[in-house]
Amino acid sequence: MTFHIVTIFPDIFDSYFNESILKRAQENKLIKIKIHDLRDWTADKHKTVDDTPYGGGAGMVMKVEPIHNAVSSIKYNVLMDKKNSHNTKYLIHNTKTILLSAKGKTWNQQMAKKYSKLDEIILICGRYEGVDERVKKFVDEEISIGDYVLTGGEIPAMAIVDSVTRLLPGVLGNAESAEYESHAVPGVLEYPQYTRPEIFEANEKKLRVPKVLLSGNHKEIEKWREKHSKKIIAA
Ligand code: SAM
Repeated sequence: MTFHIVTIFPDIFDSYFNESILKRAQENKLIKIKIHDLRDWTADKHKTVDDTPYGGGAGMVMKVEPIHNAVSSIKYNVLMDKKNSHNTKYLIHNTKTILLSAKGKTWNQQMAKKYSKLDEIILICGRYEGVDERVKKFVDEEISIGDYVLTGGEIPAMAIVDSVTRLLPGVLGNAESAEYESHAVPGVLEYPQYTRPEIFEANEKKLRVPKVLLSGNHKEIEKWREKHSKKIIAA
């Protein structure tokens, strides 16, 4: 699986993608993350990626041409790579292009599962007041990570890369399995977790670990966990 991120702030990703599970997934060649600087697809000497909005109004809007050039070029290179490696099975059909946007469909675990079956995901990070509406004509989906507005699409891109990667075979060890986590089954949240100490004192109260978890009785522990995993009733 290869993630392509189109951004005007390529350095933002260095730290997050070079730690822990995502770092290991790249080292083990389970994923590749390619960061593309949008300014590389501009044609003028100032490498302009934004302009004032038609009709007036606050702020700047990201231009359509550099984004279109970036996406076309990434898709073309993917196609060439696959042809050269004789991997003609999926070609471009197993690629999805996502525009990150506060106006998009809200990302969830079921979407992460669906996207984890793809070969390539192209993520377009907006900035300023957003992107020229015509960008929507050449993306597959407009995705939001929640009902709030961020400064840019970089944090949403990281959230998508992270949530998809941990579902890929071989990324998580057994101990970290994604199978029994919150949202693995829609509307079901994981049971409460505890670790040492067995009794924790705070504000003159003793906070204890439920006895059953100390019992070593796996059947009873399973029953307790089943009982204490929450079922969310959709609003
Ligand atoms: N004016 C836009 C609006 O009202 O919808 C908000 C633009 S926001 C400041 C700049 C960029 O951040 C967006 O183009 C998008 O790429 C990204 N962004 C902000 N909030 C987001 C969210 N909740 N989910 C995904 N992307 C988001």
